[in-house]
This record gives sequence, structure tokens and C-alpha cells, in this order.
Amino acid sequence: METAIERVLLTEEEIKKRIKEIAYEIKKDFPKGDIILIGVLKGSVMFVADLMRALDFNVTMDFMAVSSYGNSSETSGIVRILKDLDFDIEGKDVIIVEDIIDTGTTLKYLYEYLKARNPKTLKICCLLDKPERRKVNIEADYVGFKIPDAFVVGYGLDYAEKFRNLPYVGILKEDIYKK
Ligand code: 5GP
Repeated sequence: METAIERVLLTEEEIKKRIKEIAYEIKKDFPKGDIILIGVLKGSVMFVADLMRALDFNVTMDFMAVSSYGNSSETSGIVRILKDLDFDIEGKDVIIVEDIIDTGTTLKYLYEYLKARNPKTLKICCLLDKPERRKVNIEADYVGFKIPDAFVVGYGLDYAEKFRNLPYVGILKEDIYKK
């Protein structure tokens, strides 16, 4: 598994430290807690779990699953909901938790979709951001790390469902996904 990695971009320690800082920012914005984290399956699973543990107030979680047509390293722009929320978010403080913003297509769609359910506030928290690749106008309120334009895996992020269990974020060797 490790031989497929070109280089480690973010170590386990760096991720842990940054998540504590993000939790601090969230606590400043929502001092009373009672927020809902909405994880986008499956890439955000590790991030939601660690972020939630870093928040020492009432917080609940829910998940959505979306798919965007296209090959596995590039989205096509068409987003489809595969799993919707279990709970009503009307009047609630909600944070969408995503693994990565690339073109922004997925998050833009999700943001508009959830906004229509009338939450009290709707924010976006993203572990990784590739600003160079943006095609639609959307920014996260909380960003873990801005990263260069490279295909990354690990800490929840996959290539063909593999590598999610790496504890760090690494750049995948090009020959793996260009085969
Ligand atoms: P967007 O809609 O912003 O173009 O793409 C977001 C989705 O594309 C992410 O949730 C993720 O599933 C996938 N994606 C974009 N860039 C990467 C990457 O570098 N590595 C992995 N594993 N997935 C990516």
C-alpha cells in the first residue's frame, strides 16, 4: 500500500493538531454547542469522527452520500443523492463536513440542497482545499489545509476504495491512477 504513495503531504500529527485548531474556531462561533455535523460519505468519516471528539459540547452527527458521475479521479459536475439525512435540520446550526473541495461542484450542490431545508446556520468545514482547481464559486468557512493540485489519498480519502485507512494524507503515484 505504502509503495503507491509518492510522498506524505500531511502527517498524522499535523492533521491531529489542525483538527484541534478547527474545533477551537467552531467553539468560538457556536459557544453553546448544539450543532449538527453532516459528514459526506465516505471520505469524511475519519475527519468527522476526530472533529467530533475534539468538540467538548453537545454535537450530533448525520451523514449524506452523494455520487458524481465521472471517473474515479475527476468529477463530472452531475451530483446525485444516494443517502439523505436521517434528521430534520430546520432551525438548526449545521456544519457540512467534507474531505476535500476540488472543483467545488459537490459542495455547491450540497450547500444549496441543505440550505433549502431552512437550517438556522449552514457552514462548511473541509479538511483539504485545492483552490487552483475551483470551477464553481464556493469557499469553506473552516479549512484544514490548502494543498496543491495533486491526487491525494489516506485519512478517509480513497482511490478505487483503497488507501482510506492510511493515517496520513499522501500524494498517490501517477502511474497508479493513469494505468
Ligand atoms: P469536487 O466536486 O469539489 O470537484 O470534488 C469533490 C470530491 O471529489 C471529493 O469529495 C472527493 O471524493 C473527490 N476528490 C477530489 N480531489 C480528490 C483527491 O485528490 N483525492 C481523492 N481521493 N478524492 C478527490
